[in-house]
Amino acid sequence: MRAVVYEGGGRIGIQDRPMPVIQDERDAIIQVTLTTICSSDIHIKHGAVPRAVPGVILGHEFVGRVVETGKAVKNVKPGDRVAVNVETFCGECFYCERGFVNNCTDQHGGWALGCRIDGGQAEYARIPFADNGLTRIPDSVSDEQALFTGDLLSTGYWAAKIGEIRPGDTVAVIGAGPTGLCTMMCARLYGPGRIIAIDTDEYRLNAAREQGLADMTLVPGKDDIVKSIQDISDGRGADVVFEVAGAEDTFRLAWETARPNAVVVLVAMYEQNQILPLPSMYGKNLIFKTGGVDGCYCQEVMNLIEAGKLDARFMITHRCGLEEIMDAYDIFEHRREHVIKYAVTPESSHAFSEREAAAVERSRT
Ligand SMILES: [Zn+2]
Ligand SMILES: [Zn+2]
Repeated sequence: MRAVVYEGGGRIGIQDRPMPVIQDERDAIIQVTLTTICSSDIHIKHGAVPRAVPGVILGHEFVGRVVETGKAVKNVKPGDRVAVNVETFCGECFYCERGFVNNCTDQHGGWALGCRIDGGQAEYARIPFADNGLTRIPDSVSDEQALFTGDLLSTGYWAAKIGEIRPGDTVAVIGAGPTGLCTMMCARLYGPGRIIAIDTDEYRLNAAREQGLADMTLVPGKDDIVKSIQDISDGRGADVVFEVAGAEDTFRLAWETARPNAVVVLVAMYEQNQILPLPSMYGKNLIFKTGGVDGCYCQEVMNLIEAGKLDARFMITHRCGLEEIMDAYDIFEHRREHVIKYAVTPESSHAFSEREAAAVERSRT
């Protein structure tokens, strides 16, 4: 089968790889029907993810159809359409029992797919702990609607949950990329007074406004961010800040825009160390929560998609086949053509196109 492989040393390429097989009775094999490129894939390519193994098939955000299950798998069966969770987890260890599945102590626990074990930028993929890692897609939900369930929407949902947003709060989201947009979408579920989107990319800010995700947008270098947020919050600052951009200046902006006693959620995956200037922030009594999605809310996310409360389809700005993915990587990495997200279809999945078309048709009516 065809697969996108991290070759190490800043290189990725399409290769022919053997079909995955069941290795454990809790595994499932799925045929990938739609996959995508995530900024974490770019981090791996840059060598900024030390645990990424050269030779691994990339891809941790995808949907497909179950073709085979191990003997112990109960929740899915061959033929089921499924969304794949970015994290694999045993469900039984100390951390899993407490919902901290990102820290699952199993050897395949946490973010392993497309990093330490073969992922879903391929025609087929093996999913360990399939009962925990696969969420069935209802007939009324299309592949494109379900594509971001396991990673981007899970991340936004997790971030919003730990952000402790109260009704009426002023919420600042730094970064209006795919994760930032999903964070805004999920923050909205908690009824904040206003959501402020901050980014240098005005195209993305427009998308945030048009989609009703942001009530106000600010551009660093153009607007005085800290003052603007203080001006609309009786001089206080944001009640909750989500830092989703992952740069040095945005890290600083996160604690500067936060009001005293605010929660600052660092959703971003930084490529460099950041400095906490504790003398400057003394007395602000901030609560920092650091990144690493606990992707254990996929069923809740899928229910919200089915109910029309989460809809991230607008983020799919580009579509291509798996064979064209190298160009897609280039466009995505350098943010050309106002790309937000790609939907990538492996050629072998076209056998399901009629069924997909029917599902998409149903979802529109
Ligand atoms: Zn990702
Ligand atoms: Zn575990």
